[in-house]
Amino acid sequence: MKLFKNVVLTVIGGVGYDVLSEKRAESYEIKTPYGSVFASILYTGAGGSNFDIAFISRHQGKHHVPPHKINFLALIDAARQINAPIFAVNSVGLMRKVPLVENFETDEFLKTKTFTSPDSFLSFPFFVPNDFIDMTQNRISTFYDNETVHTDMTDPYCTDIRNLLFGVLKELSVSYSQGTYLCTEGPRFETKAEIRMFAQFADVVGMTGVPEVVLAKEAGLCYASLCTITNPAAGLSQNMVTADEVKVVVEKNQKTVFEIISALAAVFAERKNSKSECKKSCQCQNATIHGKL
Ligand SMILES: [Zn+2]
Repeated sequence: MKLFKNVVLTVIGGVGYDVLSEKRAESYEIKTPYGSVFASILYTGAGGSNFDIAFISRHQGKHHVPPHKINFLALIDAARQINAPIFAVNSVGLMRKVPLVENFETDEFLKTKTFTSPDSFLSFPFFVPNDFIDMTQNRISTFYDNETVHTDMTDPYCTDIRNLLFGVLKELSVSYSQGTYLCTEGPRFETKAEIRMFAQFADVVGMTGVPEVVLAKEAGLCYASLCTITNPAAGLSQNMVTADEVKVVVEKNQKTVFEIISALAAVFAERKNSKSECKKSCQCQNATIHGKL
């Protein structure tokens, strides 16, 4: 689409990020076979280059669409039309102790703290998924209904974007952890017993990461996610899990997420403008090639 020709990164944002589309320029309707999607364009001149970031609100519309009703097919088809790598922002609950990959905290006291202590996990809110487990129940999770296509999921999250993201996080001195994301159907939070079971297999739990990542792979698009850890999962703290605490933590970390998005987009812009051919290190666009029967 001509309108999106300078877009170097498509951001799909959830709770707390609707504000992006409200604050900035107009939103544009992208028609897809699955319904319309509204996307806005954020202009940025960071790093001396002019490029655009497309922003798609995951919970489209004035009324926040609940996670189990999100039209993921339309969202990813719209992203396919924009045709840029996808950077998703998700909120998650923490289920078990996760080691930090990078720790830029200078405070020795913080360094010794664990993630599962409810009063300390907020110090290290960023999590980069490298794999997922799908516990959703009623979602359409494929574009392929009329032919058999087994999409490769060896690296569900694009290794190329993730490597660039790690560079950006290091540059901005943002501490983070990585691991497995488990997606539930929602909209209710999980029970204590569910969390005990899920924590055997995954590190964080959310309701929006799947099938978004799957559909992106089917569409041959590069897709990675940055999760904000907003709360300890059920049973890990004395308190109830509430939607309010999710909102508070997301808002607290929003500025950092915007900085990360701008810096990452600048890297992609640089690559796009660079005359020397910069090869992607991932196989995302080939994910379905050997999967068709
Ligand atoms: Zn990729």
